[in-house]
Amino acid sequence: MKKRIYLSMMLLTVISLLMVSVLLSFIFYAQFSSAVRAELRERAGMFTDNSSSTALAELSATQSGSLRVTLVRPDGAVLYDNTIEKGELQNHLDRLEIAEALASGVGESKRFSNTLREETYYYAVRLTDGSVLRVAKTTDSIVGMFGGILPAVAGVVLAVTIAGYLLARGLTKRIVEPIHKVDLNALLHVPYDELAPFVGTIAEQRKHIAQQMADLQNRSQTIRAIMENMSEGMMLLNRQGVILSVNKSAAAIFEASTEVEGKNILELLRDVELLAHVRSALAGSRGDMSLERGGKTYRVYFSPVTGSGAMLLFLDITERMKAEAMRREFSANVSHELKTPLTSISGYAEMLCSGMVQENDKAGFYTKIKDEAARLIVLIEDILMISELDEQKGNERFEEVNLPAIAAETVESLGRKAEELQVSVHISGGDVRMQTNRSRMYELLYNLIDNGIKYNRPGGSVQVAVSQTAEQIRIAVTDTGVGIPKEAQSRVFERFYRVDASRSKTTGGTGLGLAIVKHIAMAYDGKVELISRVGQGTTVTVTFPASLRVNA
Ligand code: ADP
Repeated sequence: MKKRIYLSMMLLTVISLLMVSVLLSFIFYAQFSSAVRAELRERAGMFTDNSSSTALAELSATQSGSLRVTLVRPDGAVLYDNTIEKGELQNHLDRLEIAEALASGVGESKRFSNTLREETYYYAVRLTDGSVLRVAKTTDSIVGMFGGILPAVAGVVLAVTIAGYLLARGLTKRIVEPIHKVDLNALLHVPYDELAPFVGTIAEQRKHIAQQMADLQNRSQTIRAIMENMSEGMMLLNRQGVILSVNKSAAAIFEASTEVEGKNILELLRDVELLAHVRSALAGSRGDMSLERGGKTYRVYFSPVTGSGAMLLFLDITERMKAEAMRREFSANVSHELKTPLTSISGYAEMLCSGMVQENDKAGFYTKIKDEAARLIVLIEDILMISELDEQKGNERFEEVNLPAIAAETVESLGRKAEELQVSVHISGGDVRMQTNRSRMYELLYNLIDNGIKYNRPGGSVQVAVSQTAEQIRIAVTDTGVGIPKEAQSRVFERFYRVDASRSKTTGGTGLGLAIVKHIAMAYDGKVELISRVGQGTTVTVTFPASLRVNA
């Protein structure tokens, strides 16, 4: 900018100086030449009334100064010339001014001298005897005159150049420096008025940019927050496969840190199938696959991102896969469990129908069919219960439930069974009330007390203790029964698991009781613990958080 201002100023100065010089040269030249011509006219005019002889006499007697005076005869021969010997001069008839003076009495002309720098003015008058007197003066031509002032012009140009340079420097400094110093944040003071619109526009734009930056930052923070808090893994690649962005979940899958951003995915992964999917996503096609890693199963989705690369989404489907496997196993077990009583029923019925059964035995067959059907009903009820618990996850109902009262109700409904098996049941504990679901608690207590009675010995007992502390609500069912071997203790909560299948079947067990207990306990944030000794007895304890307590 400085340079441009300086150059513009210089150019302007030089052009104006040259123009002024040329103009002045013309003016001076015009004035000077008219003065010269007037002088010549005046000098020659003094001789018009003379003859050549009187003029000659007078010329010889007076000084002509800087003028050249020539006297020419009517035939063109030079009679007198004050600068050159007359013999050396040629005939002057062809000179314009002489010819004009001979013809009309007065003649005038102007000719360049040897160079263009000088020119000579001629003025001629016809004398009374027909001869012609010519006066001439040599002066600077316009070129000469301009040439004369040129060194001075050059000097001035040089001086102006230096002055202009200093001036331009000072000026640009005065213009530019305040601009550098403008505090665009404060904007309280604008150094000079001309800057006001410029500073205003910048301030406006800065505000606009700051707003946009804030918006962008907000948006990117939101996206980052979403990405970071997503349980799904997310990875963004550019067209070359370089990782642009990766969230914690995805980084954890590959046991990498988020510092993998900027690295190529080829450096991070060695899975051939995954890399093939990445390549085809970068080439524009979608895809998905299952990936086993760190004991977990992921479903990976590959999506091309128009114009910029590809996005990988990792969904942890381990739980879903487990649940699916469990469901498959459960279905197979259910079919098997249902088949056994149904096969018996069908067998007894067939025998009855075929008439092979003696009249006396028929009553026994009917009883077996009835018992198997009852077993089937219990089994179906338990299956329905466990399916319902699976379905209802997270949708538990809460109501005020008096636990000892429910325990008493359960004991009452199991009274006949306890009597038959000669097992006594006792309830201990005060008024314990809890926010829970009544029928679920009934089911839980029923299964625990039922097991205590079933897997007991004649004369044995079952102790039901319900209590509460500041930390928890506790239900403990202790029996003096057969106990559970150590290796089976962790498995008794599995669906359809029985320690002694034949005993369980004779006692009407389905293998689902403890699985139901565990399910119900978990639904209300409870924990189940089992302590057992073979031959001595078993204690199953269920504890619930104190938050479910109902304070009296
Ligand atoms: P079931 O309907 O067969 O009783 P459960 O799920 O309630 O099924 O129990 C699973 C298995 O654990 C039972 O088959 C039984 O062998 C064993 N078991 C459960 N409770 C007791 C207990 N109190 N004493 C001894 N064994 C028990």
